Amino acid sequence: MANQQFKIIGMEKIDDAWSNIIELLQVPNQAGLFILGCFARRVTIYSQQVRAINLIDALAGQGYLTPASKVAVVGAGFSGLTAAAALTKLGIRPTLYDTQTASMHLQRSCVTRYIHPHIYDWPSEDINKIQASLPVLDWSANGSKNVVLEVQRDWDQHYKGKVSERLGKKVRDILVQGQQWQVVIEDGTSDTFDIIILAVGFGAEAEAKFSTTYWGDLPLEAAQVQEQTWMVSGAGDGALTDVIRLCMRHTDHKEALHSVVEELRKLDEKKLNDLCQQASVGIYGTKLFDTIDYDALTQHLDLRPTKIILNATQDELFGTEDEGPRASLLNRLVVWLLCKKERVELLGGRLDATSIKEIGNGDSYEVTVSGSSDPISCHRILLRHGPVAPIQTRKSGHSSININCPPSDLTSLHNKWKVLYKNRQSDPTLIIDWPSDMLSSARITPDFNSFPALWLYSKTKFPNRSDVNPPLRAFKAMFKDEGIQLHLKTFCGRQVQIAGSMPTLAFEDAVATPRMLSHAVQAICRAPVVIVDGSPIAPALAFLLGIRAVVRRGITLVYHQGTMGEVAWKSMPFNLREARIVEIGNNYSVVDFQQPLTAVLEEGLRRFSIHPQLYSDLPGFDTLRSLGGDTKDISARSGTTEILVLCPFDGKYKQNCWVELQRVVQEYFPNSKFPDGPAKRVIDLDAPEMLVRRLFESIRLDEVCIADLTNNRANVYFELGVRLAAHPNGAYTIHCCDTEFSQDGSTEEALRQLLGSRPYSVDADSSAGINEALTSITSRPAHPNGAPKVGLVFSIVVRNIEIQQEAGGTSILDMLWNNVSSAGGTDMSKWTVLPVMYQQNTQINSNTLRFIADGLIAYALLARHNGLTQATDERLASAIYCLDNLKEERALSAETKQKIVELLALIPS
Ligand SMILES: Cc1cc2nc3c(=O)[nH]c(=O)nc-3n(C[C@H](O)[C@H](O)[C@H](O)COP(=O)(O)OP(=O)(O)OC[C@H]3O[C@@H](n4cnc5c(N)ncnc54)[C@H](O)[C@@H]3O)c2cc1C
Repeated sequence: MANQQFKIIGMEKIDDAWSNIIELLQVPNQAGLFILGCFARRVTIYSQQVRAINLIDALAGQGYLTPASKVAVVGAGFSGLTAAAALTKLGIRPTLYDTQTASMHLQRSCVTRYIHPHIYDWPSEDINKIQASLPVLDWSANGSKNVVLEVQRDWDQHYKGKVSERLGKKVRDILVQGQQWQVVIEDGTSDTFDIIILAVGFGAEAEAKFSTTYWGDLPLEAAQVQEQTWMVSGAGDGALTDVIRLCMRHTDHKEALHSVVEELRKLDEKKLNDLCQQASVGIYGTKLFDTIDYDALTQHLDLRPTKIILNATQDELFGTEDEGPRASLLNRLVVWLLCKKERVELLGGRLDATSIKEIGNGDSYEVTVSGSSDPISCHRILLRHGPVAPIQTRKSGHSSININCPPSDLTSLHNKWKVLYKNRQSDPTLIIDWPSDMLSSARITPDFNSFPALWLYSKTKFPNRSDVNPPLRAFKAMFKDEGIQLHLKTFCGRQVQIAGSMPTLAFEDAVATPRMLSHAVQAICRAPVVIVDGSPIAPALAFLLGIRAVVRRGITLVYHQGTMGEVAWKSMPFNLREARIVEIGNNYSVVDFQQPLTAVLEEGLRRFSIHPQLYSDLPGFDTLRSLGGDTKDISARSGTTEILVLCPFDGKYKQNCWVELQRVVQEYFPNSKFPDGPAKRVIDLDAPEMLVRRLFESIRLDEVCIADLTNNRANVYFELGVRLAAHPNGAYTIHCCDTEFSQDGSTEEALRQLLGSRPYSVDADSSAGINEALTSITSRPAHPNGAPKVGLVFSIVVRNIEIQQEAGGTSILDMLWNNVSSAGGTDMSKWTVLPVMYQQNTQINSNTLRFIADGLIAYALLARHNGLTQATDERLASAIYCLDNLKEERALSAETKQKIVELLALIPS
C-alpha cells in the first residue's frame, strides 16, 4: 500500500462542468469563437441568460479570460447583455454589437406577453418563484415590456459605462486573423478581438401577411378575438402557448398561465411523480398522460366553446422516439387535456403560407394542408413555425452573419447538441450551481479596483438578505475613512471605494458544492482585504481561513462580537489564537463596531503597504513558503516516513478513535520505518523546532495526510484548508459516524460530502470500519457525489502565488526574514505568544529562541553575502540588535551563543 499511486481526490467534477459548457458553446477547431445556444432546445430568455453566465464563468475558470482580454459580444438581446454584464464583473470591457438600435429589441414593445423565468420547469417547485435569481441582470415574472424595463434599469445603472456599445451596427463577417478574430460591420469597418461570443439568439420569425409574430402584440384574450375561429400551426411552445390562451377565457396571459398551473395542482402526488419520472427517462407521446383524469383536471378552467384548429400531428406534438417532444411538459399536458375536452382539433399535414387564401373582405381564410384536398376555413391564422436560425449550418442556408470557418465546424457543433438530445442527457449549459450571492469572478489576481474587500460571514447568523445591511454599511464607511484611504493610496496608488454592494460570501454557500467552493477559493485569492465575522469560528469558516492562510495576499481581519470568554477562546482553532482577533461590540454602531475595525484595518494596511512580504495575520503562510519557496518542492516526504493525521486531541477521541485509528493506519501502510507506525498527530510531531512550524512543514511535505473530521473541530478544518491549498494530494477525509461523536449540522454535513469524507464506526468493530473507510477513499478515483477538486483548490492557490511572485518576487532573503517574523520577528515581546499553543510543551521557550536565533544568524550571513539594500539593511540592523540581546539568553545553548558572538564580530557596527 505504501507505494501505491495516490489519487488526487475528486479532481474531475468542477473541471468537467466547465469543460462541458465550453464543449457545447465553442465552435470546434475555432478557438475563441463561441455561440450562445443557437442549437439548443431550451430557448427561453432565462435559459439563455443562464448559458451566458455559465459561459463567462467557465471561460474565466478555465483561464481563457484575463482582464486584458478583448471580447466582442454580437447581439444585444437578453443573452448578449447578460454575457457583457458578466464580463464587466471580471474587469473586462467588452464591445457589444447589435443590428438594432435598442437592446432586447424582440420583447421591448410587447405588452401582452407574460414572461416567467421558471414556468417551463413545471412541476418543479421553482415555478412558485417569480424571481429569476440571476447574479447579473436579474428580473422577475412580468409582462415582457416590464421585464425589458427592469433589465434596462439594471443595465443603465451598473453596466452601461463599462461596455462599449455599438448598437445599430450589423455585424457582417467574423473573420479569422492570426490568433484573433476580426469583426466586420456592414459599413466595412472592423475591429479585432481575442474572443467572440455570438449571442444572436434563435432568430426572428418570418413575417407573414396572415399572421402576427409571437412577440408581436396580439391581445388573445379580447372578446371579439375569442369569438373567431382560429387555426394555429406549429408544435413548439410558441404554438401551444397561443392555443392555450385562445382556448381559455382570461383577462391576460398571466391569468391564463396561473389558472392552468393552479388547476394542475390537483394532480395527485404519485401521478405527478410518475409523470416526471417517465418524462425524465424520455418517455414520449400521449402515453405519458394515459392515467390522468382530464375531466377532473379541467373542471375549473373557463374554456370557451369554439374549437381551435391546431395544425400538427400527434407525433409532432407529443414527440417520437427519434425526435422527442419539442414543447415543455406543461404545455404538452395542457394541450392534451384540451384535445381530450374536444376544444382542440388536430389537423395533420404541412401548411405552406402560399396555400392560404383570403376569402370575402379578408375577414376569413381558406387553408389547404398537404395531403388533403379539402380546404379548411378559419377567421384567423397564427403561424408558429419557429424563427429562422441566424446561423445556418447548411451552405445553402442564409445566415444573418457570415462566419468565415468551414461549415463542417458549425455542423459538428450542431451535431453535439443533437447527440445530447438524442441521448436524453441534461443540458450542461443550464446547470445552476452558483453561490446565492455569486462572486462571478474567477480572476485570482489581487484586485483593488473591482474587488477591494470580501466579507466572510455566516448565513445562519444573518438569515435574511436585509440582515447584512448594518455590517455592510459599516464596512463601506470604513473604506471612506481618511487614514485607510491614505494607506490604500500609498499601496495601490489611488483612492479605493466600495462601489455598489461589497462582495460577500456566506461560508455555508461556499462549501455547498464543488463549484461554489471553487468560486469561494477564487474570491479568497482575489480580495486584498478579507473581513471575517468570526463569532464564532465555525468549521467551514476555519476551513476557508486555512485556505486564505496559504494565499494571504493582503489583510485578513477576523473579528469577534462581544468579549471572547475563555470558552470562546478555547473553542478557537489553536493555530488561529495567535492571529489578532479584534473584539468588538455587539451592535453595529460607529463606536462599537466601525471605529475599532477601522483602526485595526488601518494599521494592517499601513504595515502591509510598507512590507507586504513581512505582514502576516494568519499562521502558516510564511512557514509554507519558506520551506523552499518553490511550489514544485512539495512531495518530498513519502507515506512510509510520516503520515500526517489531522484530528481532535481530547481524551474521549483519543480513547475511542485515535488508538484504533493509529493501529489501523499502521497496518494499512505497512512499510513504515517506524515501530510506532507512520501516523502522526500534531502532538506526536517530535521536533526540536516549534510545533507550529513543524505542523505546517508536515502539511506541506507529507505525501499522505488523513483528516479525521470527527467532532467537527474547527482547528482540524483550518489545517485541512491549509493542506488542500498547499499540497496537490489533498487529504483523505474520514469521520466517526457514531452518534456520540457526530454533531450533524447541515453545513458540516455539506462540508463532509464536499470533501468526500468516509464514515467509520467504532461501535462494533472499529478496525473494520476504519479500514473500510481508508480503502474506499484510497481506491476510488473521485467521490461519486462530486467531491471537490482538491487539486483545484491547490492549483488556484499555486497560480495565485505565482502571480504574487511574478508581481513582486519573493527572494530567499525575504523568505528567511518572513520565517523569523512568523515566530515573532525581532520584537522579543512577541515571542511569548507562541508557547500559548502548546502549554504542555515545556521545550517551547528554548526552541523558540533557538529557532529565531538560527533564523537571524542565517539572515545576517546571507544579507551580508548578497550585499545590502535599504530594506535588508534595516532588517539587518534589527537582527543585530536582537542577536546582541540573545547572547545573554540562558535558554540558548553555548554553541548557538558562540555562533552569535562570532557573527557579531563579523559585522561592523
Ligand atoms: C415563438 C416563440 C415563443 C417564445 N416564447 C418565449 C416565452 O414564452 N418565454 C421566454 O422566456 N422566451 C420565449 N421565446 C424565446 C425568446 O424569444 C428567446 O429566448 C430570446 O429572445 C433569446 O434571447 P437572445 O438574447 O439569445 O436572442 P435574441 O433576443 O434573438 O437577440 C439576438 C440579437 O442579436 C442581434 N443580431 C443578430 N444577428 C446580428 C448581426 N449579424 N449583427 C448584429 N446583431 C445581430 C439581433 O438583432 C438581436 O437583437 C420564444 C421564442 C419564440 C420564437
